[in-house]
Amino acid sequence: MLFVPLASLKSLSVASGIAPACPRLLGIVFKMISSHIKALILDMDGVIWKADAPIGDLAEIFARIDARGLKYVFATNNGTRTPEQYAQRLVDFGVNAQPWQVVTSALGVAHMLAQKFPPKTKVFMIGEDGVRQALNEKGFEILSVEDAPNAQVVVMGLDRDIDFAKTLEATLLVRRGIPFYATNPDKTFPTPRGEIPGAGAWISVITTATDVEPIYTGKPYPFMMELSLEMLGTNKEETLVIGDRLETDIAAGQAVGCPTALVLSGVSTKYQAGLWLPKIDIIVDDLTTLIGY
Ligand SMILES: [Mg+2]
Repeated sequence: MLFVPLASLKSLSVASGIAPACPRLLGIVFKMISSHIKALILDMDGVIWKADAPIGDLAEIFARIDARGLKYVFATNNGTRTPEQYAQRLVDFGVNAQPWQVVTSALGVAHMLAQKFPPKTKVFMIGEDGVRQALNEKGFEILSVEDAPNAQVVVMGLDRDIDFAKTLEATLLVRRGIPFYATNPDKTFPTPRGEIPGAGAWISVITTATDVEPIYTGKPYPFMMELSLEMLGTNKEETLVIGDRLETDIAAGQAVGCPTALVLSGVSTKYQAGLWLPKIDIIVDDLTTLIGY
């Protein structure tokens, strides 16, 4: 189901490069994604899966995407897992994904740091495997809590082993003026039991204690989108950003000037989408409908 006025279909298609689909409308077969879209940037949670359950027949959906010659990467604010771990999860669901096709906020923070600091720079990080591996791969030296006072950069993401000692060291460093970077500002993190504190909630401890805001790489900030475009080798006009959350996925896509598609299989509702500005190019029930038959 497409939630845009029919009168706007033509102008929408012309303006955005997106031809919305109403496969049975007037007996004419439309493709929801127009032919000059060459690549997709897909969020995962709420788009590909919800908790541990896939949303639709993922093997079939991606077989269709492959058949249409569309390139794609997955972009997630969740920086706790590594690209390899995400790729394996996708493979388990029948999607032929490679680790290079997974862009996490942890990868984003490592890429951003690599643009600004030389290898061997000493980093104090609060985070999990995803952040640790991404920083390691860029050649940064990750310090223990004991060595934290020697850090030249502080990096923070969601860390399910966070404790007082880590937040104390990060606070002291940031108060000394050491550059402060973070993966993503998400206040909560979805689980089957409900929303639990996300990276942003923990980062707020440091920002409250220091009055310093970190530089973020995750959505809605544009860096991860720019990195995704670089990996895809496509320009913004021909790359569709697909997500379930207005204030992160859609905002990030619009921040870099990509056309956007909101799926209603996750967090944001049709009502909220109707109020969102700038206007979203496509609003659709789920990925199955977006990709079409
Ligand atoms: Mg999501």
